[in-house]
Amino acid sequence: MAYEAIWAADTSKLNKMELVKLEKDGLDVIRTIIEKYAHEGYSSITPDDMNLFKWAGVYEQKPKDGHFMMRVRVPSGIMTTAQARAMADIARDYGRNLVDVTTRQAIQFHWLTVEQLPDIFNRLEKVGLYSYEACGDCPRTIVGNPLAGIDKDELFDTTALVNEVNDFFLLNRDFSNLPRKYKMSISSNIYNSGHAEIQCLAFTPASKVIDGQEVLGFHAWVGGGLSAKPHLAKKLDLFVRPEEVLKVAIGVTTIFRDYGYREKRHHARLKFLVADWGPEKFKEKLVEVIGEMPSLGEDRVVGWTAAYFDGVHKQKQEGLNYIGLSVPVGRLSGDELSELAEIADTYGDGHIRTTVSQNIIISGVKDENVDKALAAKVLERLTPNPKHFMSRTVSCTGNEFCNLAVVETKERARAVAEYLDKNVELDEEVRIHFIGCPNACGQKHIADIGLQGALVKTPEGMVDAFDLSVGGILGPGAKFNETLKGRVKGDQVGPVLEQLILFFKENRGPEESFHQF
Ligand code: SF4
Repeated sequence: MAYEAIWAADTSKLNKMELVKLEKDGLDVIRTIIEKYAHEGYSSITPDDMNLFKWAGVYEQKPKDGHFMMRVRVPSGIMTTAQARAMADIARDYGRNLVDVTTRQAIQFHWLTVEQLPDIFNRLEKVGLYSYEACGDCPRTIVGNPLAGIDKDELFDTTALVNEVNDFFLLNRDFSNLPRKYKMSISSNIYNSGHAEIQCLAFTPASKVIDGQEVLGFHAWVGGGLSAKPHLAKKLDLFVRPEEVLKVAIGVTTIFRDYGYREKRHHARLKFLVADWGPEKFKEKLVEVIGEMPSLGEDRVVGWTAAYFDGVHKQKQEGLNYIGLSVPVGRLSGDELSELAEIADTYGDGHIRTTVSQNIIISGVKDENVDKALAAKVLERLTPNPKHFMSRTVSCTGNEFCNLAVVETKERARAVAEYLDKNVELDEEVRIHFIGCPNACGQKHIADIGLQGALVKTPEGMVDAFDLSVGGILGPGAKFNETLKGRVKGDQVGPVLEQLILFFKENRGPEESFHQF
C-alpha cells in the first residue's frame, strides 16, 4: 500500500499540513504559481497554497505585505560563473540587490513578488538551477564539500555523486511528501565539511579492506537535526561504496516517508524515528528495503574545521590555488556576486563555491594569478584575511524578513563581531552563531558561543534578548553547546561576550582553545 493510502485510511490523527498535502502535492503549487497567482496577484493566493509555496522554494517575507523570500539549491555549494551571474541579475532586477549565503550552501533572495516568480524560475532553469524543494517537506539542498574535486583533504571527488543524488530526488513525486524537511550531506573531506552529525542522512569518508583490497567509500549517519530538541546523528553499521550512495539514500528516505511520524509537526523529523528505533533497528529496516550491505569500515574523518577556508590555499592540482573569502554574516550584494564571477572567470576555473559557514571560495587560480586576483576591489570587503570575530560569525535571517523570528539577528551579529574585533585581542578564532528563534537555521548548537533570540521584560516593556550557550563542536567528540543561566539583553551582547572571552583568555591552560575550556 502506498504511503498516501496508509495515511488516507485513517486521517484522524494527521496534522493539518498533512491534510493539505493529501489534497495537493506540494510540487503542484509551482504550476499554480505560474499559471494563476502570477497573473491574479498576491491577494488571490489561498492559505493552503501559501503553505505549499515552500515546495517552490518560496516563503512569505515579514511583514506579510506581498513580498517573498526565495532559496536556490546549490548542491555541494558548487556553481558556475554563469549561474552566479544569473543569480546576481535576479538579485539586482527583483531582490533589491541582496544575496544571502545560507548555512546549507544555498543562495537566498528577498523582496520578490509573486508576479516575478515565473521569470525567476525561468532564469534559474536556463542555467541549471532550481529553487524547487529548497524548502518544504522534501529532500532539501544536498550539502557537501565545497572543495570537491580540488581538495587535498578529500578521499575522492564527490561532485558527480552529489549531482546524481540531487537529480534523483529533485521534483521526484515519490519523495515530495515527506513528514517534514529532510536534509542530506555527502562529503569525503576528512575534516567533516558537510557537518554530518546535524543532518537527517549524512555520508562521511571511510575505508574498508574487502577481498584484500582497500576500498574507499562512506559511513552513513542518520537522525541528526537541530531546532528545540537537537539530536546528533547515529552511525549505522554499514560501509557504503560510492556507487551505492544513491541506493542507501533512497532506502533511508523511503523509511522516513513510510514510517516517519505525521501526527505532530514538531515531532515529524527523522531524528525522532531514529531516536525511538535506535540505529540497529533502523539498519535492519534499511536492509529489508535495499538488501544486505557490508558492515562498518574505518572512519576517515580526523577532525572538524567547521567549513572555514579563508586565505589562499594549494589545491590538489599542482600550480592551482583556491581563495577562501569571508562574507560577513553571509550577506553580499548582487553587484559583489557579479564581481566575484568576473574574478573567477578571469583568474580562476569559472566556479564559485559557497560554504555552510556562509562564505565563498574562488577556485582554480594559477600561482602566477593569485596576486592579481587578490588585488580586486571587491576583496577589500569580502576579504581572504578577515578579522577574527567577523570571520567566524554566522547568523540566520532573523526578524528583518523571517515570520518566525523573535528578534533581529543579522545586523546585530555583524555589529557584535565588529565590536569584538575592536575590543578583544585573541590568538584564535571563536565561532559565534546567532539564531532568531528555536528553529536554529543559524545552527547555534554547534557554535563555540551560540545565541538564541528571546524576549525579556523590562520596565520599558519587552525587549530583544539572547540565551547564551557555549562549547559546541562537531567531528570526533561531537557535542552540542550547553546553555548558561540568565538572558542577555540585545544591546549588551557585545560587552557580555567581551567579558566571557577575556575570562577565557585569563584562565585558559597552555594550548587550551575556547572549545576545550
Ligand atoms: Fe527564522 Fe528562526 Fe530560522 Fe532564524 S532560526 S531564520 S528566526 S526560522
